[in-house]
Amino acid sequence: MDRRQFLATSGMTVMAAAFRDLPLAGWQGLVTSFEDLRRGVGIFNGQGGTIGWLVNGDGILIIDSQNAAAAAACIEGIGERSSNAIDILVNTHHHGDHVGGNQTFRPVVGSIVAHENSAMWQRRAAEQAGNEDSQAYPDETFTDEWRTTIGDETVVARYHGAGHTSGDCVVTFEQANVVHMGDLMFNRLHPFVDRASGARISGWIEVLEQVSAAHSAETIYIFGHGTPGAGVTGGQGDLAHLRDYFTAALELTRREMAAGRSREEITGTESLPGFEDHVSPFALLSLSGVLGVAYDELSEG
Ligand SMILES: [Zn+2]
Repeated sequence: MDRRQFLATSGMTVMAAAFRDLPLAGWQGLVTSFEDLRRGVGIFNGQGGTIGWLVNGDGILIIDSQNAAAAAACIEGIGERSSNAIDILVNTHHHGDHVGGNQTFRPVVGSIVAHENSAMWQRRAAEQAGNEDSQAYPDETFTDEWRTTIGDETVVARYHGAGHTSGDCVVTFEQANVVHMGDLMFNRLHPFVDRASGARISGWIEVLEQVSAAHSAETIYIFGHGTPGAGVTGGQGDLAHLRDYFTAALELTRREMAAGRSREEITGTESLPGFEDHVSPFALLSLSGVLGVAYDELSEG
C-alpha cells in the first residue's frame, strides 16, 4: 500500500460516517479517544466530524454529535470526567456526521443550539432522506451571534456568512483561546463545498480571513476533519493554507474558463499546483468537486 492509498484508506475509516448511512446500532469498528487541549476544552474523536467539549466545575458544553454510537461513547466518557449535566449541545452545521447523534444527546442535554440556516437545512435534508424520525432539531437558533457563560469560560458561536454551507457557525472558547471551526476546516483533505446547501467558495475564503483576524497566533483551532497525518487541530497557518487553496482553485478555474475550457475539462484537472498535500479519501471530497463548484460560482458572474 503506498502512502496515498494509506491516507485514503485511513481517511475513509475516519470519515466513513460523514456522508453515508451507516448502521447506527452495533457499529463494530468504533474507536474513540478524548484529547485535552486547554483550560477544560478538548476534543472527542469517534465517527464523524470532530466533537469539541468544555468540561469545568460549573457545567458542560458539547459541539457536534457525530452519530448515535459515537455520541453514546462520548456521553459515557464525559460522564467519567464530570458528574454535572450537559448544559448545551451546539451544532456547527446540519450535515449528518455533525448532527446524527443529536437524538442520543437529547435526553441528557439541556438545549441544542444552531444557526437558523443549519436548522432549516437539517429539516429539509431529513424530509428529502425520509429520516425525520431519527432527527433531534435545535431548540434555539440564532442569526449572527449566540453566547453563554459556563463557570469562568465564555462560549461564543458566530455566523460569518456562507462557506461550507450557508449555516455554519464558528465557536470560540474565549478564555481558553480555542476555536471550533466545524467543516469550515478540512485539514489537508479536498473540502466538500455543499453548493446545494448554499455554500460559496468566495464566501468561505472571507470566513477564513475573518476568523483568523479575530483570533491570535496562540489560538488552537479544532477542525471538522483532517487526514490522520495532519490531524484535526492546528493553528492559523492551517486556515491560511485552506484559504490559499480556495484562491488557487478559483484562479485556475477563471483562467481555464477564459481559455475556453469546458466544465468537464476543468473538473478533469489532476492537481492544484502548490496544494498536492490535499488528499481525496473518496469522490465527494475531491479536487474535481471543488473545481466544479468554482465553475458554477464563476458562471453566475
Ligand atoms: Zn459538513
